[in-house]
Amino acid sequence: MNSDTELATLGLAPEEYEGVVNMPVARASTILFRNLEDFEAGERGEYKLPIYGRYGNPTQGAFESAIAALEGVEHAIALGSGMAAIAAAVSAFVAAGDHILVTDSVYGPMRRYCDQMLSRFGVETTYYNPEIGGGIASLLKQNTKVVYCESPGSLTFEMQDIPAIVKAAHTKGAIVIADNTWATPLYFNAFAHGVDVSMHSATKYIGGHSDLLMGTLACRPAHYKRLLYAARNFGATPAADNCYLALRGLRTMALRLRQHQASAMKIAAWLAARPEVEEVYYPALPGSRGHALWKRDMTGACGLFSVLLKPVAHEKLRAFIDGLKYFGLGYSWGGFESLLIPCNLEKVRAVQLPKEGTLVRLHIGLEDPEDLMKDLEAGFARLKP
Ligand SMILES: *Cc1c(COP(=O)(O)O)cnc(C)c1O
Repeated sequence: MNSDTELATLGLAPEEYEGVVNMPVARASTILFRNLEDFEAGERGEYKLPIYGRYGNPTQGAFESAIAALEGVEHAIALGSGMAAIAAAVSAFVAAGDHILVTDSVYGPMRRYCDQMLSRFGVETTYYNPEIGGGIASLLKQNTKVVYCESPGSLTFEMQDIPAIVKAAHTKGAIVIADNTWATPLYFNAFAHGVDVSMHSATKYIGGHSDLLMGTLACRPAHYKRLLYAARNFGATPAADNCYLALRGLRTMALRLRQHQASAMKIAAWLAARPEVEEVYYPALPGSRGHALWKRDMTGACGLFSVLLKPVAHEKLRAFIDGLKYFGLGYSWGGFESLLIPCNLEKVRAVQLPKEGTLVRLHIGLEDPEDLMKDLEAGFARLKP
């Protein structure tokens, strides 16, 4: 099915709810059993429906089935945030004495999870060059259980050769978990590229309106039980209200993404030609780093990228950012609004950028791109000595 059509039809069950088009918000802690027989089936783990609100509800189930369909696999699990999804996914496959390989371009809080928590539980992390490709074979050890990817990477947007990494990992019996938040389920088919567990921060484009936190994991049957138990043991159940909003976000996701992509492309190309800009990190932009891999493996791009500004005095940078009219200064991305933050790689990378300058990450929202460029142009004027 075409993905536009999928997004308009997935996770709906009007026949079960008096014809109401959207799934109702099923807020639930206690869920009643019809009789003792059902209750006893629940105790044996043989009851088909959720037995308690932490294990799901109809709204969550509808959202999960929509995500599984979009990812092209049998199972999806929704969690209370993207970070909860990451922590549960990795924890599902490791034990004391194990080793994991994590891309050096990984989302910062995931790095903290490895360094501050997994290390205490006896799991060793090695950070690898995101552009290592099949070369990762030399880093895989006997006890390497997980290879963790994120493509393109956070802040610096290195593309990863996922099929080459998967091939090496599977040869050594390691599973591949990939954070695909940037590409969304629409622009990267994780499972067709061999990934075992596909993770998304639904906080971003799936929600799409900067008003919810949620994460998703998708997998084939072979990995479902482990992931489900990990997700349940973490207890990071999403609120039914957020499942409702995320499902609603899906309805317009393809449409929104087309606009984010078109505007980001226009603005990234314009920025690449600006004298204030050293480099643009947007793999969808022809000529940019990782473009060939992006073209090979992905079918679209979102509105998130970075630019390296030529070195500027801190006061000038402050004038540039504080004077922006449409770009808000704040974390996260994937909502309708444009955002811009300066990025400090010091604490989140083993290997720093080879060039001097100030890295700023832009999220191109749904405003008119001409207005956004005027806003940035006025900002550049404030950078002048
Ligand atoms: C935001 C983000 C996350 C974490 O998602 P939350 O929903 O904020 O917990 C994970 N990975 C990437 C790439 C992100 O941008």
